[in-house]
Amino acid sequence: MVNGIKRQLPGTLQKLVDEIEQAAGVEIEVRHDPAQEPTAYARALYGDHGQEGATHDSLRLTLSFKGNIAATSSVYRQPFAVVAHELLHLHRSEVLRAPGIHSITGLPPSSSPIRGDAVARLFTTTGFDELVEHSAIDPSLPDYGFEFPNTGSILETWDAFPKQPWENWGRMRWIVLQEFLRVQFLTKNAHLQRHAEGVMLRFGMLTEGRWLVEQFRWLLASPDQYTAKFGMCFCLCTIFRVPPSEFMFLERRPGYLGIQSFPPVFTVPKAGGGQITFHLEPPKSGCSR
Ligand SMILES: [Zn+2]
Repeated sequence: MVNGIKRQLPGTLQKLVDEIEQAAGVEIEVRHDPAQEPTAYARALYGDHGQEGATHDSLRLTLSFKGNIAATSSVYRQPFAVVAHELLHLHRSEVLRAPGIHSITGLPPSSSPIRGDAVARLFTTTGFDELVEHSAIDPSLPDYGFEFPNTGSILETWDAFPKQPWENWGRMRWIVLQEFLRVQFLTKNAHLQRHAEGVMLRFGMLTEGRWLVEQFRWLLASPDQYTAKFGMCFCLCTIFRVPPSEFMFLERRPGYLGIQSFPPVFTVPKAGGGQITFHLEPPKSGCSR
């Protein structure tokens, strides 16, 4: 990252930039683009492609931002929190080597953000991947000196869930479960958490929601975020009834870029000792406990 930009960042983020660049072996290219939406956006590019077109390893890391690098957004209200969020995406992929999801059969890829329709974006490969990645990124912001992202929007969402049965089963589950992860990981407000549990109960999803939170909690604490990402995606397969065979992941390691399916068996180490092995076959086995 060019020094003029890097020097403006808080110390914790300068250190993060160094870590990312050292692991990736390339510098983060900063682009100032007044037309950029949202406020800032980080990407790992392979050749001229994003993850979707990945065929060979010629990695470039880009961080585009609209105006001032310290700019805030409606969710990230502290200066530099937006950029911290974006850098943490690169930290997950380059330092922790969390595999990106390359494709899910039946879902559109969404190679660029779909503007103005957050629900439509959820139903894309990118949206699915972001659900997992944001579960890891947003709760880690306090480690870099930032508060949790604005939780006011969380209460608004829980109050907005309609009382009538929803037209689309998958869409309902997707949105409600994503919000449940957010309320569990991003707020310590007991009243808000109880309120959310009441809505989950009304939707008949409280047991599943609690199970998913419990799984995400230990997987996100694992010292190995490479296998933990497979574990998180496998839990989502169970919750959303998506066969794991529909998933393809990006395989990234220094000097190599390819595409791979779920490993049939993989083991995730637990923080503080022990490990859990996941078996994809038979499909009904679910996450082993
Ligand atoms: Zn993000």
